[in-house]
Amino acid sequence: METRAKFTGLNSIKFTLRFNQDEACYKYISDIKWENGFVCKKCQNTGFCSGVKPHSRRCVKCGYDESPTSRTMFDKCKIPIHIAFHIIFRVCTKKKGMSSLELSNEFEQRQMSCWEFKWKIQQAMISSHKYPLTGEVHVDECFIGGEEEQKRGRSKGKKKLVVVALEKLPCKEVGRAYAQIIDNASNVSFRPFFESHISKDADVITDEWPGYIPLKKDYPKLKQMPSNKGKNHPDMHIHIMNLKGWLRGIHHHCSKDRLQGYLDEYHFRYNRRNNMDTIFDTLLKRMVRYEPKRLKTGK
Ligand SMILES: [Zn+2]
Repeated sequence: METRAKFTGLNSIKFTLRFNQDEACYKYISDIKWENGFVCKKCQNTGFCSGVKPHSRRCVKCGYDESPTSRTMFDKCKIPIHIAFHIIFRVCTKKKGMSSLELSNEFEQRQMSCWEFKWKIQQAMISSHKYPLTGEVHVDECFIGGEEEQKRGRSKGKKKLVVVALEKLPCKEVGRAYAQIIDNASNVSFRPFFESHISKDADVITDEWPGYIPLKKDYPKLKQMPSNKGKNHPDMHIHIMNLKGWLRGIHHHCSKDRLQGYLDEYHFRYNRRNNMDTIFDTLLKRMVRYEPKRLKTGK
């Protein structure tokens, strides 16, 4: 089987040259979509000929014509496909990403179209849950979207309670991280986040909040240490400060309902910061393979 020509690297000139027309983008999508061969969605036949649109495939048995973008996140995209590709490239390779307003100005598209497309990109940036954090993992919570000081408990009004997990590598560097909005700081709220993102044999370190105690049954190495206002966990403190700084910066005007999307976007880039070469291809593959979800603004 032919291997596909993946786009690697961060060179925007090479990117612009390669994806200067819609045709090159349809080819890239089609190569991902049918990487393991063509199977007709209607009759499961594997024989095909060229369809009506560029790089679409038509079943030779039943005549069903499938475009490369159907059943992908590019379906019914209001932005021309080569501009959509450039938006994806910029959002995943720029250190701080880009807001829908910046995208709208740079690519001369309606801000609402950029906002909707950015939402789709964020859906593709959700963790695959395949690689839970391992080794030493620090966990803490913080409030985002309001004053810093607030008692632990239920999220109120605009403020959202967020749980964060951060890997500490043996070389003292920090590794990967994840964050999720939770309803309250109870073990019932913590548990789905732990199960999705932290390996059961990780050396989890939390502060002395009692909400973590019931998790020791499933995470036998979980240790609780005094927080000393965050001073005992400096890497976690810095991580949360950086995350909040980014949210306050270019995304300050964005609605709180979409906070989880921003948390996913931040950590998608953060977890690949030392391995940026394949970030565009990874994201594009997901946008082709993930089922498109209906746009909703609520959590
Ligand atoms: Zn068919």
